[in-house]
Amino acid sequence: MKRVITNTQVVIIGGGCAGLSLGSKLALAPDSPSTVIIEPRTEYVEDRTWCFWDNQESQHNHLPLKSWNQVHLSTIEDEITVDLKHRRYQMLRSADFYQDKLSTIASSSAVSLQTGTQVNSVTKSPDGRWVTETPLGTFICEYVIDTRPSGASIENPPHLWQTFLGLEIECDQPIFEDNIATLMDFEDVVNQDIPFVYMLPVNKNQALITAQSQRE
Ligand SMILES: Cc1cc2nc3c(=O)[nH]c(=O)nc-3n(C[C@H](O)[C@H](O)[C@H](O)COP(=O)(O)OP(=O)(O)OC[C@H]3O[C@@H](n4cnc5c(N)ncnc54)[C@H](O)[C@@H]3O)c2cc1C
Repeated sequence: MKRVITNTQVVIIGGGCAGLSLGSKLALAPDSPSTVIIEPRTEYVEDRTWCFWDNQESQHNHLPLKSWNQVHLSTIEDEITVDLKHRRYQMLRSADFYQDKLSTIASSSAVSLQTGTQVNSVTKSPDGRWVTETPLGTFICEYVIDTRPSGASIENPPHLWQTFLGLEIECDQPIFEDNIATLMDFEDVVNQDIPFVYMLPVNKNQALITAQSQRE
């Protein structure tokens, strides 16, 4: 069987948050370079939420976001609630992010997404171009952006290893103050493996509770 060789300007390895963000930015650029994003998953599902700091001019404002304009921090000795003024702490659901980026990429003639396949190797050819091998064929390009995780693991940690465990809980009673995000609650620390807890209420009955542990 003849191997398919595709010439393109850019190959993005991985269509996660980073790969789709870059792909959609390139899709919206005035002179979009021809770009192929290569991603093993075959479908995008709601698999996480992202939380981040932003201001009123957020580039994500068109998406459904949960925003908090006050944050609460506490220790056994003390506690403080801070008014964020012009800044906000925000939560974005991955399903909304994926839908937005996928539709931007789908409407572009320059950027395409190849799902259900993966990059097996990347080598540099003598003419300085990159040769990216996948089961679908070979992509020859000027730029490769590799967004795959670094390969760090709990056995082979980077400088600081952080682990987050999150639970979404729903209560019968309206018990949460949903305009306040509790970012670092050191009060309920069970032991040194869980240095702090986040409590992010999405409404008065529902919250995402996240425990964080870290080690150097
Ligand atoms: C400061 C900070 C805050 C964070 N906050 C959050 C948070 O609030 N919530 C949260 O969930 N996470 C958070 N994270 C963790 C992380 O950033 C996110 O989970 C994010 O989704 C990672 O996206 P990514 O695109 O970098 O990587 P990934 O999502 O891992 O994307 C890499 C992609 O590469 C693909 N891939 C793997 N192998 C191949 C191959 N051989 N060929 C082609 N493609 C391949 C994978 O399928 C995957 O889709 C945070 C991280 C930092 C540093």
